[in-house]
Amino acid sequence: MQKASHDYNVHKFGGSSLATAERFNALKALLTGKNEIIVVSAIHGTTNALQTMIDAVLNGTDYSETLSNLEKLHLDIIQKLLPPHQQTELSLVIKKDISALNKLLASAKKSGSCPKETQDLILGQGEIWSAKILSGYLAENKKNIIYLDASTVLFTYEKNGMICIDWQKSQAELNHFLANKNFDQIIITGFIASTLEGKRTTLGRNGSDFSAAIFAKLFNAKCLTIWTDVDGIFTADPNRVHTAFVIDSLSYKEALELAYFGAKVLHPMTIGPVLASKIPIYIKNSFNPSAAGTHISSSPKKSPYIIKGLTCIDAVSLINIEGTGMTGVSGIAARVFQILHHTGISVILISQASSEHSICFAVANTHTDSAVNALKENLQFEMERQYIEGIYVDKHCAILSAVGDDMVGTVGISGKLCDSLAKANINIRAMAQGSSERNISVVVKDTDINKSLQTVHAGFYLSRKTISIGLIGPGSIGSTLLRQIYSEIEHLKSTYHVNLYIRGIMNSKKMLLSDAPINLSTWETELNNSPHQADLKKFTDHILTNDIPHAVIIDCTANPTIGQHYLNFIEQGIHVITPNKHANSGDLNYYKALRTLTHTKDIHYLYETTVCAGLPVINTLQDLLKTGDKVNKIEGVVSGTLSFLFSELPKGKKFSEIISEAKKLGYTEPDPREDLSGMDFARKLVCLAREVGHDVSLNDVKLHDLNSITDDQMETLINKAKANNQKLSYMGEISSDGKITVDIKSLPDNHPFSRLAGTDNMLIFHTHRYDAYPLIIQGPGAGAEVTAAGIFADLLRLVSYLS
Ligand code: ADP
Ligand code: ASP
Ligand code: MG
Repeated sequence: MQKASHDYNVHKFGGSSLATAERFNALKALLTGKNEIIVVSAIHGTTNALQTMIDAVLNGTDYSETLSNLEKLHLDIIQKLLPPHQQTELSLVIKKDISALNKLLASAKKSGSCPKETQDLILGQGEIWSAKILSGYLAENKKNIIYLDASTVLFTYEKNGMICIDWQKSQAELNHFLANKNFDQIIITGFIASTLEGKRTTLGRNGSDFSAAIFAKLFNAKCLTIWTDVDGIFTADPNRVHTAFVIDSLSYKEALELAYFGAKVLHPMTIGPVLASKIPIYIKNSFNPSAAGTHISSSPKKSPYIIKGLTCIDAVSLINIEGTGMTGVSGIAARVFQILHHTGISVILISQASSEHSICFAVANTHTDSAVNALKENLQFEMERQYIEGIYVDKHCAILSAVGDDMVGTVGISGKLCDSLAKANINIRAMAQGSSERNISVVVKDTDINKSLQTVHAGFYLSRKTISIGLIGPGSIGSTLLRQIYSEIEHLKSTYHVNLYIRGIMNSKKMLLSDAPINLSTWETELNNSPHQADLKKFTDHILTNDIPHAVIIDCTANPTIGQHYLNFIEQGIHVITPNKHANSGDLNYYKALRTLTHTKDIHYLYETTVCAGLPVINTLQDLLKTGDKVNKIEGVVSGTLSFLFSELPKGKKFSEIISEAKKLGYTEPDPREDLSGMDFARKLVCLAREVGHDVSLNDVKLHDLNSITDDQMETLINKAKANNQKLSYMGEISSDGKITVDIKSLPDNHPFSRLAGTDNMLIFHTHRYDAYPLIIQGPGAGAEVTAAGIFADLLRLVSYLS
């Protein structure tokens, strides 16, 4: 070879990194321009289009539109990318190639067949075009650029269905090619090679990664960087598992296992060539080059997780050979796998029952029929004599694999995997642990595979304090809550491992649903632009995801109908948090069912803010009761508006004047009669009385409706109170037997309610323990900030309960 080893960096660019002229531009910034070997895939979509045309020819359908689209795609990029003189030259080359392709396809169509050799020739065309375009583009920099068609130096042959490299011949041909050449960069076609007979072939779909690894070995490169469209190798396919994240470091063997068991981001053959010389591999995102990516090496960093990644293989059949009369199953097993081997079928997974009455294995669906036919043909003798009773096939399967070096010797991994699947109600059809103990694989029903990946991922990777959140009613309180969460979310994550995934926001008209956490700085615009009409069923289905271990709905509406759905949410396993009092103060039977269900299902229903906003009323009461205290009486001023009206009365103003003033100050509902009716007040007391254990309803409350009181009547009351050195208060009382009254009372000056000023609320708990001196809670009992903070505290309380 021309240069000393370890001078070169090999870069491989996948199809999406070459999808448009802009992507070619971006790619330049990722290169240094010196000592670089650049291996390219075809421009995004090209190989698929070439395959589509082959299929069309074989099916006798028209391929011309696909061909002209392909021509246009390449000519457009050339036009945008290259200077005029180069444009003409390369456009001519493309046009000539397209016309040659057309001839090949037309004659295949005529003959009704397209032999593998021709197919390989057609399929490999994309890489030749992309490499030529890139060479032209990079040559503009006055660099010494060489274009290399890999099929002139790379020689392969097939052995037992595997593609093998003739290393000696390839190295010699490459050395020969490089002799007396100086270069800054060599652009090499990925995916294509030659047979030993010199016919162009391919390395199989997705094979450019393999090409790059081969050239990394041939050049004895310093490192191999695979540029793709994701930030690295994820803990699971990010399209299927939205909480998956990048694995920063992997061993060669782990990467191989992940790739072999389905992680499409890396071709499984990529590892082989670089393993012996320990050439490190980086998987990086050409769309986000600053992300560190995944580093594959022989000494990976220690990971905090017991498994490194999850992968899956779709479209798999499970074949089960059973026979109670089988003696010496090992003999039969050997025969079975020999038959499959001779038929050229690779077995993905084997599991054998210890009873030795059955052998079960998985093959790709494309091989099922030939596997079964070959087995039936060759095991006829055993079947006729009933040594083998049947060969059963299930074509609707998929395989999930957990991979990681550290699985070796770690107890309980299969247990955890099975447990996660069982919790999600997923049946395991077969299971196998590789002898390397680097892989545990389970076969599940094909339709269950995404759910399986998501739930197993959540089980292994996510902090138990991860929760999927849906917020209904982003009005004043709801939007304040979102703002408060936004400002704390990172801190909660880094300090307490609390992951709050806001995945849905719904108002009365629209809803915003997202698998990734919603951006809390732009949610309002996104919700307004959302195409989805509000639909509670779809909303809850979305919030309850297999990706994330827990789900909560926060109802920030004051809507009675949403409250009627809590039971259903809880039945589905969704926790509920709300400031909405309707569920707790409405129909008694519904309330009781709600309480019973939350106790039996271990699903939490938190509603601190239903009474006096963020003041710790419900929690205090619950703590008293749980620790065995008994409530004698509760007194309360639980309306900020009414509190204000009565604290202004002693100043000599008329009641109606104070009401207008309160309205102006924004203390009342838009229609003050709603406050004056005392209904909201009564609801809060019903909530509290029920919390204590009284079976009461709103109709049982003896309520003084202030709408009926005149200024004169009020004046009489206030004068009478003054004469007795007392103050008026609109207060509620829950007696020890659960009677609730809400009325105007004249109270001595030293009564705590007489000290209330402004809009403050106050609750007085008279209990067995707090007897001589009652327990008093006082403070603002309304307002968006304090209510939202109370809901936020409920959310964090909920997270602390999760396990
Ligand atoms: P390229 O064209 O660059 O070779 P591929 O499409 O072959 O890219 O591979 C990248 C894709 O692999 C990603 O976009 C992603 O959809 C898919 N993928 C599957 N499993 C994983 C995984 N575990 N980590 C990252 N990507 C994965
Ligand atoms: N272009 C080929 C394919 O699409 C090879 C590759 O991209 O790796 O399969
Ligand atoms: Mg690829």
